[in-house]
Amino acid sequence: MHKRQLPFTKENLERISEIFPTPFHIYDEKAIRANARELLKAFSWNPGFKEYFAVKATPNPFILKILKSEGFGTDCSSLPELILSEKAGITGEEIMFSSNDTPAYEFKKARELGSVINLDDINHIPFLEKTCGIPEVISVRYNPGKLRDGSFIMGNPEDVKYGFTREQIFSGLSQLRQKGAKRFGIHTFIASNELNPDYFVDTANMLFDLALEIMEKLDIRLEFVNISGGIGIPYKPDDKKVDLMYVGDQIHKRYDEKIKDTLLHPLSLFMECGRSITGPYGYLVSRVLHKKEIYKTHIGLDACMANLMRPGMYGAYHNITVAGKENHEHDHIYDVTGSLCESIDRFAVDRELPEIEIGDLVVIHDTGAHGHSMGFNYNGKLRSAELLLRESGEVIEIRRSETVEDYFATLDFDKLKGFHTKSQGHKEKII
Ligand SMILES: *Cc1c(COP(=O)(O)O)cnc(C)c1O
Repeated sequence: MHKRQLPFTKENLERISEIFPTPFHIYDEKAIRANARELLKAFSWNPGFKEYFAVKATPNPFILKILKSEGFGTDCSSLPELILSEKAGITGEEIMFSSNDTPAYEFKKARELGSVINLDDINHIPFLEKTCGIPEVISVRYNPGKLRDGSFIMGNPEDVKYGFTREQIFSGLSQLRQKGAKRFGIHTFIASNELNPDYFVDTANMLFDLALEIMEKLDIRLEFVNISGGIGIPYKPDDKKVDLMYVGDQIHKRYDEKIKDTLLHPLSLFMECGRSITGPYGYLVSRVLHKKEIYKTHIGLDACMANLMRPGMYGAYHNITVAGKENHEHDHIYDVTGSLCESIDRFAVDRELPEIEIGDLVVIHDTGAHGHSMGFNYNGKLRSAELLLRESGEVIEIRRSETVEDYFATLDFDKLKGFHTKSQGHKEKII
């Protein structure tokens, strides 16, 4: 049986939960830092290498500050993500603004912060120009269409809404140059949660070829290619972690073959990994409230799909450990459920686990990315706290849990008191 080592014991968790009641997500700072360093080491051959952490994975400014201290920037795609980066002290070209279907106010903020804007659509060129002018540095997002396969979460490139077509890349870059842009990059993001290391090598290779073609046809020397994120993590017991050193070495080889002896050298390689940076180092900790025996045995947690949407949304697998029963036989079969009035609110279906009792602490693995961040309030569920396990062993709260007051903050109950169920017709009519 596959076992995953937790960075805390049951006793640790019981003590933590006395101060910070369950459910909560807890992130392992030491492991996040070690992982960040591994990525940088794999690409240390490329002096301009930069990882822009995809904020949507874990939009917490404490995590961003930790990653900044390791040398990461951020990849943002909305106004709040831009503001969050700014609050964490990440500004200017430390930010990659990779959004799509972008409203004008977001381009304005990105421009104000001096971030690198990565355009998703050729029609965004005049839109950006009108909104806030064309910046000196600009990137364009390439969608290779039929030339590449996609992934389950992302879909096939040809079917999805992102990026420029191949022809649009050439006409887009030449328009941008004509409008005053001076420094250029290209970007692509076509697969998500991909575990095949060669996929990323192929993607880098594809962008190297495109960069060479751009130089030849347009006489534009790109400054960077951005192979974005999408590195998968081993959610399932049999999954293998992507070997970053292998990916780094293989891309290095392609670089030396194709780029090193051309005018494109030195060309910087950028990434925007989210999931693989924090995903495996976060845990959702929850307590067993009920055990229900009907046609199946349902273990009812105090967490629900609002705390972790992936299993319900994608049927995603998350490993589960029952704290203190790490070495027990997995000789029971359970559905592990939350309390939403939705049948899909299940963290595990027909899972082999040790015998579970009411009051047990259940640890759901790999919630460090797209966990808390995908949370929602449907069914009146409140979002949980986020905790940080520091390298010293100290545990701090980096986001408190929501209260009922937070949930009601957008409602005006005084107005409700004066609200007549039949319109009084005093105000000017709009319709
Ligand atoms: C989501 C996203 C990423 C990060 O993807 P991961 O799968 O978390 O590595 C990077 N770039 C863009 C534009 C994204 O939308």
